[in-house]
Amino acid sequence: MPLRSSLYSQRSLVLTLVALLGAGFLATSLLSYYASRASIRGNIVNTELPLTSDTVYSEIQKDLVRPILISSMMSRDTFMRDWVVNGEQNPEQMTRYLDEVMTHYGAYTAFFVSNTSLTYYHAKGVLKQVKIDEPRDAWYFRVRDMKDPYEINVDPDLANKDNLTFFINYKVYDYHNRFIGAAGVGLTVDAVIKLIDKYQQRYQRSVYFVDTFGRLVLTGAEGGPEGARIGQGLGELESMKSLVSQLPKPHSGSYEYSTHGQGHFLNVRFIPELNWYLFVDKREDGALSEIRQSLYLNLLICLLVTLSVLALLNRVIKRFQSKIHAQATLDSLTELPNRRGFDILAVQALHEAQRETRPLTALLLDLDHFKALNDTYGHMAGDQILIGFARDLQSCLRHADIVCRWGGEEFIVLLKDTDGDTGQKIAEKIRQHVEQHEYAYNGHSLHLTVSIGATTLQREDTLHSLLSRADHAMYRAKQTGRNRTCMEMPHSTYA
Ligand code: GH3
Ligand code: MG
Ligand code: MG
Repeated sequence: MPLRSSLYSQRSLVLTLVALLGAGFLATSLLSYYASRASIRGNIVNTELPLTSDTVYSEIQKDLVRPILISSMMSRDTFMRDWVVNGEQNPEQMTRYLDEVMTHYGAYTAFFVSNTSLTYYHAKGVLKQVKIDEPRDAWYFRVRDMKDPYEINVDPDLANKDNLTFFINYKVYDYHNRFIGAAGVGLTVDAVIKLIDKYQQRYQRSVYFVDTFGRLVLTGAEGGPEGARIGQGLGELESMKSLVSQLPKPHSGSYEYSTHGQGHFLNVRFIPELNWYLFVDKREDGALSEIRQSLYLNLLICLLVTLSVLALLNRVIKRFQSKIHAQATLDSLTELPNRRGFDILAVQALHEAQRETRPLTALLLDLDHFKALNDTYGHMAGDQILIGFARDLQSCLRHADIVCRWGGEEFIVLLKDTDGDTGQKIAEKIRQHVEQHEYAYNGHSLHLTVSIGATTLQREDTLHSLLSRADHAMYRAKQTGRNRTCMEMPHSTYA
C-alpha cells in the first residue's frame, strides 16, 4: 500500500508539473501571440493602409493638379478667346497653339471645341465636328451645360489600362462671360498605375478605385478583390455587398471583411477630384503568418522543454528511488542486505525451494564474546572486525547464496540447493576460516570465533519457523562452549 500510494503521489507530482509547465508555457505563448497580433492589426489599420492611401492619393493629385492648371490657363488665354471671337480664322493658328501646349507641357493631348462651329481642334489638326446625337461627343454637351468651371473625365473607351486617360474639360468664356467652347489637356495616369503595381507586388496589398456606383474603375495587374475586373460591380461580391451598399454617401474609413475564411483589412478614401473611392486592401494571413510561425515555434520549444524537464525529473526520481531502496535494504556498515533486504530475498528463495522441492540450509552465525572485544579494543575495532568478517563470510559462499547482517554481530546465510550435510560442512568451513584468520586492527592482530546454528528447510516451514530452529541451534552452540556448529532438525537435534 505505501508503495502504491508513493507511486500515485509520484504520478500526480509529475502530472501537476506537466500541467503547470504546459499551462504556463501555453499562456505566455498565446498571450504574446495575441498581443503581437493586436499590435500588428492596429499598425495595419491605423498606419500602413492609411499611409499607402495617402501616397497613392498624393500621386494622383500630382498627376492631376498640373493638367488642371494648364487647362485653366488655356481657358483664360486671350489668344484663344480672341481667335474664337474673331470667327475662328486660320485653324492652323489654333492647332499650332494646341501643339505648343501639348509638347511643352508633356500632355498626352490638347484640344479645343468651339461652341459656335462645334469644331474639335487638337494638336494635330481639326479632328471633327461634335454632334449632339453622337454618344462619343456626349461629354462636350455635358460640359457646356454644367455649372462647374471644369470636369475631369476618364476615357471610357480605353481597353488598355496602362493608357487610361484623364481629360480635363475646362469651360471657355468670352469677355462678356458667354460660353464659347471647351478646352483642356488629356493625360495618362502611368505614375498612378505604376504605384498601384508596386504596392500590390511589394507590400502584398491590393489597391483599386471604385466609382460611386460601386463599380471597379481602376486597378493594377492583379485585379480587384476576388479577382474582380474593371467595370464589375463590387456589390456582386458576397464579401463586399454590405460595404458597397454604403458607397453612394461619400465616406472614408477602415473596414474589415472576410472572404473564403480569409480576413481582410480595408482602408477606403473618397477622392473628390475623381468622385471615386480609393480602396487599399491587405490580407490578414500575409501579415500574421510570421507571428503565427513564431507561435508554432514557441509551442514546439515549450513542448521540448517540458519533455526534457520530464525526462530529467524521471531520471532524478528513479535515481533517488533506487538510492532509497538500497538504503532501506542494505546494511551501511558491511554493505550486506539488512533484515528488510533479507526478507525480500529469503521469501522468494523459500518459495522456490519449496515449490521445486529443492534443499535449502539456513545458518545463523553469532560472533563469540564480541562485547569483550569491543570493550578491549573499542567500538571502532568492533566495526572493522564486522566488516572483515562479512567479507570472509562472503568469500566462503557462492554468489547465489543469500547472506545478511541480521543485527549486531549476528548474521544469517541461506544456502540454496544445499542439504543438511553439505550445509554443515560449509558452516564448519566458515567457522574454521574465521578461527584461523587474523584480523588486523591498529597494529593489533585480533582473533575471532563464531558460533553457528544450522537447520534445513522443511515443506511446512515458514521463514519464521526456519529461523527459530536455526536460532535454537545457535543457542546450543553457545551453551556447549561456542566456536562450533550445531545442527537442528525439526524433530531431532544433533551436533
Ligand atoms: P556471546 O558470545 O554470548 O555472543 O557474547 P557477545 O558479547 O558476543 O554477545 P552480546 O549479545 O552480549 O554482545 C553483543 C555485542 O555486540 C554488544 C554490542 O556492543 C556489540 N555490537 C553490536 N552491534 C555492533 C556494531 O555494529 N559495532 C560494534 N563495534 N559492536 C557491536
Ligand atoms: Mg549476539
Ligand atoms: Mg555474540
